[in-house]
Amino acid sequence: MDASKLIDGKAFAQGLRARVAAAAAELQARHGFRPGLAVVLVGDDPASQVYVRSKTKATEEAGFHGVEHKLPASTTQAELMALVARLNADPDVHGILVQLPLPAGLDAAAVVATIDPRKDVDGLHAQNVGALWSGAEGLVPCTPLGCVLLLKDRLGQLAGRNAVVIGRSALVGKPIAALLLAENCTVTVAHSRTKDLPAVCRQADILVAAVGRAEMVKGDWVKPGATVIDVGINRVPTPDGKGRLVGDVAFAEAAAVASAITPVPGGVGPMTIACLMRNTLTAACRIKGVPVPA
Ligand code: NDP
Repeated sequence: MDASKLIDGKAFAQGLRARVAAAAAELQARHGFRPGLAVVLVGDDPASQVYVRSKTKATEEAGFHGVEHKLPASTTQAELMALVARLNADPDVHGILVQLPLPAGLDAAAVVATIDPRKDVDGLHAQNVGALWSGAEGLVPCTPLGCVLLLKDRLGQLAGRNAVVIGRSALVGKPIAALLLAENCTVTVAHSRTKDLPAVCRQADILVAAVGRAEMVKGDWVKPGATVIDVGINRVPTPDGKGRLVGDVAFAEAAAVASAITPVPGGVGPMTIACLMRNTLTAACRIKGVPVPA
């Protein structure tokens, strides 16, 4: 494959994190505060533990004030809501991330609704969802923001392009569609009931796959010259039993046809944490009333 086709999310995310760290140092020097991020983990889901560890590490590397709350799976709804209320009131905390999914019995929607929208760095509060669709100022979910930053970096102007987003989850598909619409793309959102998905995908100048099905998107679904963003993270079995991560796109086939494509791993994945740091910086600046660095 022609290496210039590869959209290197890992390198882009490193650059973004370095810019955020520099901006945080500047805030400390000029305004005397550090962005603060609180991460809340309930229970002992192994994947969530890995995510929380990387978020904490990134928080330290950015020079932020980091707070980690690890609660047992037996935590009650009232206890969790009380913690969120304390974090809402904490002047050193500008971003609150409650790692999802929550253990059975806990109502994630109610918890998200309790987060101060100005501190909702995951962008899931109804006020931020509304802001995204209405074009108002808010906080945007991290993975979708990462996808659009990669697209703008590669393509420049996105206006007028046909974008097809496969997947309509509140966390990924819908916010990506909203962001692409805001960039003046013509957006189609496909899902499990879409008829003739390959034909729909072949219309796409920008094809975003956020499905959760290993290598579902085949090479002949991709319009020649399209840009492909693969959000999927799927573990497939290997003979050594360790498994291997693949995206929602059959990478080699699609890369032969596309003009640019994100790999899995090393594409969209690293952008999520980088954008979490950027969102926390943004939230901190807004709360403190200082200009948000570009
Ligand atoms: P969800 O399961 O919430 O949503 C999947 C979407 O895909 C749904 O809208 C569903 O349609 C659609 N879908 C399922 N099967 C098909 C099909 N056969 N044809 C067309 N559409 C289909 O997943 P998420 O949005 O949370 O995540 C999607 C993927 O992105 C996962 O692999 C996840 O691991 C990954 N991910 C990666 C992140 C990163 O940092 N890179 C962050 C978050 C997620 P319907 O609505 O009709 O059911």
